[in-house]
Amino acid sequence: MLATKLYAPTLREVPSDADVVSQQLMLRAGFMRKTANGLYSFLPLGWRSIKKIEAIVREEMDRASAQEIMMPILQPAEIWKESGRWNAYGAEMMRINDRHDNEFCLGPTHEEMITTLVKNEINSYRQLPVNLYQIQSKFRDERRPRYGLMRSREFIMKDAYSFDVDEAGLDESYKSMYDAYTRIFTRCGLTFRPVEADSGAIGGSGTHEFMAIAEAGEADIVYCTKCDYAANIEIGKPGIMKQDEEALQELSVVDTPNASTIEDVAEMLNLPLHKTIKAVVFSIDGKIVLAIVRGDHEVNEVAVQHAVLGSVEPEMATPEELEKVGLTAGFISPVGLKQTEEFAIVVDESVMETYNVCGGANKKDAHYININPKRDFNVEDIIVAPIRLITDDDVCPTCGGTLEHAKGIEVGQVFKLGTKYSEALQATFLDQNGRPNPMIMGCYGIGVSRTLAAAIEQYHDENGIIWPRAIAPFEAVIVPINAKDEALMSTSQTIYTALQDAGVDVLLDDRKDRAGVKFKDADLIGYPLRITVSKNTLENNEVEIQIRKSGEAITCAIDSVATKVTELLQDL
Ligand code: ATP
Ligand code: MG
Repeated sequence: MLATKLYAPTLREVPSDADVVSQQLMLRAGFMRKTANGLYSFLPLGWRSIKKIEAIVREEMDRASAQEIMMPILQPAEIWKESGRWNAYGAEMMRINDRHDNEFCLGPTHEEMITTLVKNEINSYRQLPVNLYQIQSKFRDERRPRYGLMRSREFIMKDAYSFDVDEAGLDESYKSMYDAYTRIFTRCGLTFRPVEADSGAIGGSGTHEFMAIAEAGEADIVYCTKCDYAANIEIGKPGIMKQDEEALQELSVVDTPNASTIEDVAEMLNLPLHKTIKAVVFSIDGKIVLAIVRGDHEVNEVAVQHAVLGSVEPEMATPEELEKVGLTAGFISPVGLKQTEEFAIVVDESVMETYNVCGGANKKDAHYININPKRDFNVEDIIVAPIRLITDDDVCPTCGGTLEHAKGIEVGQVFKLGTKYSEALQATFLDQNGRPNPMIMGCYGIGVSRTLAAAIEQYHDENGIIWPRAIAPFEAVIVPINAKDEALMSTSQTIYTALQDAGVDVLLDDRKDRAGVKFKDADLIGYPLRITVSKNTLENNEVEIQIRKSGEAITCAIDSVATKVTELLQDL
């Protein structure tokens, strides 16, 4: 490819609404353009990288005996109603009606569609197992589209679905996808970790998220420094933190004017945070849920959802909802409260192990001191569950070792679905005894476009992107210092042909711009190798090869450029 023919409009300025590095760099380097909130067009450079990720995904999926198919993006509402997700999916689903007023959605995922597809064709155990996948645009009307490709409303996903005759079969399919994902992200050059995760609204048992480790990640993970335990903190099960037993003091009310956060109260009363309890109120499935943790802990929303068997993600309760159940925002504790049909109280296990703590008095500008949960809560009438987030102060739930915390970008997820969809949509097969059984399913997603962004989040510097070779739009760029100089151009052309012949994905920067401009662009776009052809080097029959990652420059005889480049690329 010649740079004069390449459509890659670079920008000198960082677009003001770009909120993460990957988005800024992809816009600046001409990889993509924003069409609307959460919608992007890929330009040739961006699309080349996407296609390289897709190629790796395809190779590894095929190697794991998954077969590629393509299903419609547009999905009829009926199948979603059958599974019960037409309502459960909520506002994130993009819905449309056709001219006859039939309801459809733009697929956010394809469990319903694939189950409907195979159930008509697969009816015997002899046809199983089978694993089908596609690479396609998905649509989710995210509450907060942001971070460019990482949380967009239309994005590219690889989604695979496995069907097995029994749990053991599913375990095998799952393992094979887990291993394929490990190979895929390794080949893409990412630093990542598979972590135990929550199976969320999709249902099922057993799931891992593949997390690219990066500061810009929206997920928090903990991992053990001793064993291989690693989990999304949403699912990390914290132990019970005990406090030293104390004589129970008398419960009393103190004035705490305008101190509506637990930090304010702790400061006002000169108490350490672990001697306080705090309340967060959610609305889950139309029910108001009061969650209580120690003042120095944070509430785990997913654990709260599980504790009340909620079918949707918790939302913060509105002031109106609080009023409806008689709660005074900022001054809430379970003391004197009872659960009702529409009101649940969930208390963290570690809260039950506290003595003489401070919490809301359920009236404005007042707090209780000397709350003793075992004495003062209606213990028969509350749910006690581990609902705080695990932290790196906790010990590893598996081996007791030290935990560390990291931010992760979820680039993929593997799920054991079980029979949720096959039962709802009646996807059965006849077993060896001729009896009908629901197929045992797994589903496996990779965010292809998010993976691209994650790679940039991991590999960049102040000058631009530093691509892992496998997913770089071009592996190398040849920069003749002066494109008007015929000798330089003809040597560059020779090198260009030699590299192409050697199978290197190479760009020749034949633009008549100043060398400085071309160098800057090369750094910004992030080609793993830059081959500079200058008068100086030509005098010695040499060129300079610069490695983007290390900045190291190597001189190399012209007739061995192809060999050298191929060799260098192997480590990039
Ligand atoms: P998240 O928790 O980040 O919203 P998810 O768990 O809902 O993601 P899955 O249903 O597991 O997503 O989808 C499979 C993969 O698709 C994810 O692992 C992620 O890489 C990608 N993905 C999901 N939502 C988006 C999005 N809005 N933009 C880009 N990629 C996404
Ligand atoms: Mg997920």
